[in-house]
Amino acid sequence: MSRHAEWVRRYGSPLYVYDLDRVRAARRDLRASLPEECALFYSLKANPHPDVARALREGDGPPCRAELSSTGELAAALAAGYDPAQALYTGPGKTRAELAEAVRAGVRAFSAESVGDLRRIGAVATAHGVVADCLLRVNSAAGHAATGIRMTGAPSQFGFDSEVLPDLVDELTSVPGARITGLHLFPLSNARDEASLVGEFQHSLATAARLRDRTGLPLRLLDIGGGFAAPYAVPGARPVYDKLRVELSAALDLHFPHWRAGDPLVACESGRYLVGDSGELLCSVVDVKVSRGRRFLVLDAGINALGGMAGLGRLMPLAARPDRDDVAQVASLVGPLCTPGDVLAREVGLPGLGVGDVVAIPNAGAYGVTASLLAFLSRPAPVELVVRGGHVVSASRLRHDRVPVGPSAD
Ligand SMILES: *Cc1c(COP(=O)(O)O)cnc(C)c1O
Repeated sequence: MSRHAEWVRRYGSPLYVYDLDRVRAARRDLRASLPEECALFYSLKANPHPDVARALREGDGPPCRAELSSTGELAAALAAGYDPAQALYTGPGKTRAELAEAVRAGVRAFSAESVGDLRRIGAVATAHGVVADCLLRVNSAAGHAATGIRMTGAPSQFGFDSEVLPDLVDELTSVPGARITGLHLFPLSNARDEASLVGEFQHSLATAARLRDRTGLPLRLLDIGGGFAAPYAVPGARPVYDKLRVELSAALDLHFPHWRAGDPLVACESGRYLVGDSGELLCSVVDVKVSRGRRFLVLDAGINALGGMAGLGRLMPLAARPDRDDVAQVASLVGPLCTPGDVLAREVGLPGLGVGDVVAIPNAGAYGVTASLLAFLSRPAPVELVVRGGHVVSASRLRHDRVPVGPSAD
């Protein structure tokens, strides 16, 4: 029996399998692509499984820090042993309650998305007798011209519009409880190629330097985001970034002559590159049918298990393909949900699969379970199996169940 079939027999189907050796390899590769002075944040959004997150903190080389955007991710990071004092809490719409939970847990660094966000961070910090270090997230007025992946300078819930930031300096620096310590730029996800990535970083660094010069704001931490790419639910390898280290160092030398001494500390962020290729989704063919000449393979995993965010279009285009290159038929891969939208791949070349066969969808370690429509149709979540060196580390599943809730005390 194949390894896949054996895992499915023992742990059920659908089944996510994460290989921690591959998580480690991805961290090593990304670290090697970046200047060694750079800090690296792991964005738990990509995969908050504590064993996966822990693998990015432990082992050889400098550990990743946690980039968090909810109290659930905070709990996952703490469970994985991350130091909350090194974490960065990001995202629009941070409520006072969640900020308080984060501050109580020891988080001290926040990315501020607006004046109101900065005021709430400061107020909560003050109420807890601390001062919060705040990065101002920047929505740059123009992007790197050659990127072509994303609209730049668009209105957004994210960050301060770069062109108005200089006028806000007095207001921003007088918020009690909030100390501005740097800038946060995250203009791009899943860059098309290395040239786009480099161009975007060069542009971000020029923007940050200009803002530093025009505002005089302190710059101790400069988070330049990411954009490191990874294949999603299709066969293929992570890109190799050969030139990035040299190009990024050169751009930093140009704008921030003391960066190598940590002034400012430069940080990057990644989710998908670090964990994408560590995971595969194993599922099973439940039915094979032909309708008006078209063939459908009905799987036990649909958009409740993978790619429920595909509606976001270009960020998560879903055209899943199994990890085999023997093509014997053209068919659509569909899930079990009662909606015609439950399609993992439309009319793709597939191996000869029949009822009961296990299908392995590769590169599903990022934006898998938690980026899916987990509760839609009320099916159980897939089991998540974690392996290292071929041995099982853990097997568990997320659960969603109804619990009674009374009115809150105040
Ligand atoms: C989602 C997100 C990331 C991770 O993006 P990937 O494309 O998975 O690397 C990093 N930083 C911020 C602020 C994000 O919102």
